[in-house]
Amino acid sequence: MADTPHVVVLGAGFAGVGVAQKLRDAPVRLTIVDRNDYHTFQPLLYQVATDELEPTAVGSPIRDLLHRHDNVTFHKCSVDRVDLANKRVVVQGMPPIDYDYLVIALGSVVNFHGTPGAEQHAFPLYTMKDAMRLHDHILRTLETVDKDPLLVNDGALNFCVIGGGPTGTELAGALTELLHTELNADYPNLPIDQARVILYEHSPHLLAHFKPKLRDYAKQALEERGVEVHTGIGVMEVDASEIKLSNGEKIKTHTLVWAAGIGANPIADKLEVELVHGGRVPVGPDLQLPNFPGVFVVGDMASMTDAKTGQPLPGLGAVALQAGHHVGKSIAQLVAGKAATPFHYVDKGTMAQVGRGAAVVELPTGGTLTGHIAWLAWLGVHLSLLSSAEEKTSVFVDWGWNLLTHRRGKRILLSDDNTSTDNT
Ligand SMILES: Cc1cc2nc3c(=O)[nH]c(=O)nc-3n(C[C@H](O)[C@H](O)[C@H](O)COP(=O)(O)OP(=O)(O)OC[C@H]3O[C@@H](n4cnc5c(N)ncnc54)[C@H](O)[C@@H]3O)c2cc1C
Repeated sequence: MADTPHVVVLGAGFAGVGVAQKLRDAPVRLTIVDRNDYHTFQPLLYQVATDELEPTAVGSPIRDLLHRHDNVTFHKCSVDRVDLANKRVVVQGMPPIDYDYLVIALGSVVNFHGTPGAEQHAFPLYTMKDAMRLHDHILRTLETVDKDPLLVNDGALNFCVIGGGPTGTELAGALTELLHTELNADYPNLPIDQARVILYEHSPHLLAHFKPKLRDYAKQALEERGVEVHTGIGVMEVDASEIKLSNGEKIKTHTLVWAAGIGANPIADKLEVELVHGGRVPVGPDLQLPNFPGVFVVGDMASMTDAKTGQPLPGLGAVALQAGHHVGKSIAQLVAGKAATPFHYVDKGTMAQVGRGAAVVELPTGGTLTGHIAWLAWLGVHLSLLSSAEEKTSVFVDWGWNLLTHRRGKRILLSDDNTSTDNT
């Protein structure tokens, strides 16, 4: 075994899992490290926050995903830094791990862009803990207003979202549906009709990367569902009960959901290589770190360009998974004495859900879909991307139940306070 090449993968997100899938039968020892013992399906976190799905539906146990791999060891621990010169990884609570091949796939973290008060008072939506914290905050807010209805005048029922990309758009649509259906029935004494969901986007359009007609559709669909959409407006300051906007206006609110930006994992800063675009690590066409053969950086943490088009690749789950598959195959090729090949991304389209029965889809051919057909496509694609059969079944059952009965999950509060989460 000592002669068998040791591959260490940091991060069991889309990219890390993709690498492991392709190395299952390779003649290597594989060690995977993640600070969590579960893989998070980030695209559906907003459904956990708004009670459409249980947390376990979008988090798969990593050890479970590796059951059919004989050559794998998993360690649940945090990575502190990578010592590229000595080919070892420094982790918490364990001796350093030496490697022959290394894949760094630690994803991204929330970026508050230095906005005063945002870190203390805003609710990001990038981790499972973020989603559960927001979920509990929404329920706790309604419980508080139930006891003291005067808090409505203090903006307690104003739910603000900053960021009109897919995350903010999807969350705003789901939140307005949650408030005006289940929560309206759960709190008959509350003036839920006065609850507002307000979406701010600092650029002129929602869903900036989609075609204009899809952006217009999404805005109209959100507004039909009662969301107030304000484009060209950013958030400048955040307080516990108020936000200050870029137009000088102040809005009373106890909830600002932060869907306005991510940056690369801070471990990138410790690599001592020159970073680009929001702290990302630039990699070569085969996704190896220049000057460090055998070290790959993939997914959201990397600045990857498509080998065929030369275009920078977006921070998407589909990109990370395909890049992970490519790196897994490349390592198997290197171990077999062959060269690694350039990565070419196959675009299968982009999509976002706006609410029940409404979504936008941009197909790789340039075609577009909206409405029910786009929504069904969105459901199918997200279901197929989930990593385990158990998750697929659980999500399918929850969505089916929701669709047939118009009812969501069990709305119960399990945490005692609003403790903030660690996003690093
Ligand atoms: C709310 C939200 C919605 C999204 N919606 C979509 C969508 O609809 N479609 C789409 O294609 N993409 C979507 N994305 C983007 C997609 O989820 C990311 O591009 C993808 O997860 C990136 O994969 P990754 O493997 O690079 O990182 P991740 O999936 O983030 O995985 C990184 C892993 O590293 C681990 N880790 C981090 N730091 C450490 C450390 N110091 N030590 C040990 N482990 C660590 C984490 O626990 C995690 O498991 C969304 C993202 C978010 C946040």
